[in-house]
Amino acid sequence: MSFNSLQLIAPLLKALSEAGYTLPTPVQEKSIPVILQKKDVLACAQTGTGKTASFALPLLQLLHQQEPEGFNSSCRALILVPTRELALQVADSFTVYGKYLSLKHLAIFGGVSQFNQVKALRQKVDVLIATPGRLLDLLHQRHLSLQQIKFLVLDEADRMLDMGFINDVKKILSKLPLQRQTILFSATMPPEIQQLADTLLKQPVKIAI
Ligand code: AMP
Repeated sequence: MSFNSLQLIAPLLKALSEAGYTLPTPVQEKSIPVILQKKDVLACAQTGTGKTASFALPLLQLLHQQEPEGFNSSCRALILVPTRELALQVADSFTVYGKYLSLKHLAIFGGVSQFNQVKALRQKVDVLIATPGRLLDLLHQRHLSLQQIKFLVLDEADRMLDMGFINDVKKILSKLPLQRQTILFSATMPPEIQQLADTLLKQPVKIAI
């Protein structure tokens, strides 16, 4: 199966071809069509399987096709990740895949001054990639709103659990609109993650590779 047959739009196909991707990985083959159909997804996939592209590509496409509602339509997609390294890695992927689209993304994470992140949040941001602690801090300080979120991705959910972020994640989830598409990626499915998935996802398509 080719990326072409996954119904991806030309600007994404061009970016993929320039990045040297010829064939989708198994998790991409399974996730991309389902996410494009706006279904919730529960995916069991490890790092190195191409999991980032499996949510980033369809998200970019859906955001591109969806008209922003008015001037304040910022932060339409939220990607929660456990670490700064992963936030930067996911952001890099969005840069590569979104090269020919005019969508903006921003990574926010702890361990650095919030000054530049706050400044960047005053500009248009379509995709926010965030670690839970820093996102909560900025939310409490009212530097952003999550009211426009249409897509939520929990990436490496089991690692967020292991690192003790689950309560922060739950606080963030309580601030999101209920009407949204939710995608959960986890390398393992311990009971706490299964429980979280049960409360978060609506009739999810389950993908395991
Ligand atoms: P990930 O599992 O998302 O961390 O991706 C692992 C690595 O595989 C990254 O360096 C990606 O750039 C690369 N990659 C992902 N999908 C593909 C693909 N379909 N073809 C070639 N490389 C890929």
